[in-house]
Amino acid sequence: MKYFFLLFLVLRASNSSALTILIDPGHGGEDDGAKQVTVGRVPPEVVKEKDIALAISQKIYEKLSNAGYSVFLTRSMDRTVSLPERAAIAEKTKADLFISVHINSSPASGAVGFETYYLGNHDDWAIKKVEKTENVQSHGDEVVVQQILVDLVIDQTVNTSKPLAQSIHNEIKNSVGRKYGIHSRGIKPGLFFVLALSKRPGVLLEVGFISTQKERVRMMNPKFQDDYAASVVRGIESFLKGQKKVQTQLRTKKKRRG
Ligand SMILES: [Zn+2]
Repeated sequence: MKYFFLLFLVLRASNSSALTILIDPGHGGEDDGAKQVTVGRVPPEVVKEKDIALAISQKIYEKLSNAGYSVFLTRSMDRTVSLPERAAIAEKTKADLFISVHINSSPASGAVGFETYYLGNHDDWAIKKVEKTENVQSHGDEVVVQQILVDLVIDQTVNTSKPLAQSIHNEIKNSVGRKYGIHSRGIKPGLFFVLALSKRPGVLLEVGFISTQKERVRMMNPKFQDDYAASVVRGIESFLKGQKKVQTQLRTKKKRRG
C-alpha cells in the first residue's frame, strides 16, 4: 500500500507533461489568514496572508506551466474556498502533487524563518500551534477529520511527501535562504487537514512571518516572491529526478529477476 503512490507517481513522472500539480494559495475571500497592521501609515495598511500566498502561488503556477507541467490553482483570485472544496479540486483535477502556500504569524516578536510541512504525526507543541491556525475555516470553526482517515492518508503518502518536502526545503534553503540570509526552521510532520483531505502527496509551505516587519516587507516584494517561487519549482523538479532514479532502479531489478 505504501508503495502504491510512489509507483503511481514514478509512472506519471516519466512524462512530465502528464504530471499534474495543484497549487493551493492558503485562505482567501472572507478568510484573510494571518494579518498585520503596519503602523505609522495613514490610512493604516493591513497586510494579509491570503494576498501574499496568492501572489507567490501564481508565480509558482506560471513557472511550472512554462516548464510544461499540467498545473492548477485552487483559487486564482481573492475568493473563499473551504478546505473540503480544495480537496474536491484535487480530486477533480486528478492532481499528483499538492502544494499549499501559507504565511506564518507569531505573537513572539522577532519570529523568523521558513518551514516546510508534510502530513505526519508528531508531539511538538509548536507545530500544534501552526496546525491550529491552518486547520480553521473562514468562520472560525476547525475542520474535523476522522483520525482513521488521517492515519490511512499518512500511510499512503508519507513515503512520497517527505522526500518532496526535503527537496523543496533544501532548494529554498540553498537559494533564497542564502541569498536573503533567512533562517531555516526545518522540515516537519504536521496534521494539516487540507493535506489529509486531498489524499495525495503534498507539502504545506510557511514562507515567513507576517508578524515580523523585515520578513513582511520582504514577502511583499515581487522580486523575493519570484525567487521563492523559482526555488519551489526547482525543488519539485529535483524531487521528480530522484523519483526517476527510483524508477530506473526498479526496472533494473525487474530485468535482473527476469
Ligand atoms: Zn495559513
